[in-house]
Amino acid sequence: MIAKTRQIANIRGLTLHLPTVKYTKPEYAYLAMTNARCLSAESFVKPGDHVRIGQIIGMRKGAFFEQPIHATVSGEVVEPVKKFHRSGKLVEFIVIKNDFKDEYHERVQERTDEEIEKLTLEDFAEITKNNALVGLGGSSFPTYIKFQTKDPIDTICINGVECEPYLSADHRLIMEFPEQIMLGIKYALHAFNAKRAVICIKKKYDDLYYTLTAELTRFPELPIEVKRVGNYYPQGWEIEMIKTGLGVKVPQGVLPAKLGIMVFNVSTIVGLWRAIKWNQPVIERNFTLTGDGIKLPLNFRVRIGTPLQELIKESKGYVDDTDKVLILGGPMMGANLVRDDAVITRTCTSCIILNAKKEIEEPCVRCASCVYSCPAGLQPVEIMHAVKNNDKEALKTKLNIKACILCGMCSYTCTSKIHLTDYCRKAKKMAV
Ligand code: SF4
Ligand code: SF4
Repeated sequence: MIAKTRQIANIRGLTLHLPTVKYTKPEYAYLAMTNARCLSAESFVKPGDHVRIGQIIGMRKGAFFEQPIHATVSGEVVEPVKKFHRSGKLVEFIVIKNDFKDEYHERVQERTDEEIEKLTLEDFAEITKNNALVGLGGSSFPTYIKFQTKDPIDTICINGVECEPYLSADHRLIMEFPEQIMLGIKYALHAFNAKRAVICIKKKYDDLYYTLTAELTRFPELPIEVKRVGNYYPQGWEIEMIKTGLGVKVPQGVLPAKLGIMVFNVSTIVGLWRAIKWNQPVIERNFTLTGDGIKLPLNFRVRIGTPLQELIKESKGYVDDTDKVLILGGPMMGANLVRDDAVITRTCTSCIILNAKKEIEEPCVRCASCVYSCPAGLQPVEIMHAVKNNDKEALKTKLNIKACILCGMCSYTCTSKIHLTDYCRKAKKMAV
C-alpha cells in the first residue's frame, strides 16, 4: 500500500473542483447478499419478478442484527451471480435488469414536517434500521444503533473532514447538497434533543465554509456552527476531530456518546435526511474515481450496485496497457482490489487507479518514524515483530492492537518502505 500512497502525491486535487456526474443508468444492478457484518442472507425475490426502487428484496443476517437489502433500480430480477465482494470474498449477488423507468416502491413515501416533529428516538432507530442506513464514510456501522443510545446527547458532530488525501466525494456532497445536510442535522438534533451541532471541515477549504455558512442563513433557528479544523491526516479520525472541533479529549476506548457527543459522517447525515423525509434507503452515493491510471478522473453520483468497470469506461478507460494498482477507498486506509469487476456498495467512497510502480521493501533501520507518527500512540515496529513471532498475547496486552485505527501513517512514514499497516491488519485478526 505504501508504494501507492507515495505515488498518489503526484495526483493531488484531480477531482476536487469537478462537478458530480450523475450515473444512474447501470444496465444491471448487483446487490450483495452478504457482507463483512452479515454472513448469511435470505432472498425474497426470484428470476422474473418485477421490483421497484426501495423495495425490500432480501434480508442479510448478522450475529446481532438483520439488514434489509433494497432494490436500487426498477426492473426485472434475473439469475443471481457469484462475484467478488470488496471484502475479497466470493459472494452471491441478486441481479436486477434495469428498465430505466425509475419506479419507486410504495414504501418510499414523503413524511410531512408535522409527522417528522412527532418522531421519537425509537422511531428514528426503527426507520434507519428499515432503510439499512450505515456509516457512509466507510465505517458501515449500522446507524440505528446510534439511535438506540441510552446516553444523553448534547452535541451532534458532523464529520466533513474527508481527511484521506485526494478524495473528493464528501467535498462535492457538501457543495451540492448543503440543504439536505442542514435538514439531516435538524432531524438528528430533534431525535436526540441535542443543544447544538458542529460541522467540521478542513481549514483550507474556503468553498465549503462559504457554502455551508450561506446555507445556514436559511436556517437561523438551528443551533449549527461550522468549524474549520486542521488540514492534516488523520484529522477525520473521530477522536482527533472531536479534540480539534469541540475541544473535548475522548479517552481511548470510550465512546463519544458517553461524553454527550454523537458523530455522523456528512454523507450519512444526507442518508438520514433521505430516510426520515422519504423513507428511502441508500440507493445512490457520491463516489470519486481518480488516479494517474485512468484518462478522465471524475466524481460520480452513482447507483448502489453499479459495476466499477462501467464507471472506468465512463472515465474514458485506462491510460495505457501497463499494470495498474486499484485501491478501493482512500490511499491510507483503502484496500487493494485485485480485479476491476467490483461493484459499488453503500460504503465505497472512491477508487484510485494508479500506474503500478515497484518499491522494494528494505530491512528495518530502527529509526522509530513509525512510532512517532502513530496517532494512537502505538509501536508499529513492535507489532510487526509480534506478528512475525506469532505472539498473540503481546498484541493483545502490551502492544494494545485493539487501539489501532488502521490509519496507514506507519506505512507512509516508514523509512524502509515496510508495509506496517498490513501487519497491523493481520495483528487485529490474530488478537481476536
Ligand atoms: S495503522 Fe495503526 S499502528 Fe499504524 S500508525 Fe495507524 S494507528 Fe498506528
Ligand atoms: S519506520 Fe520502518 S524502519 Fe523505522 S523503525 Fe519503524 S519499521 Fe523500522
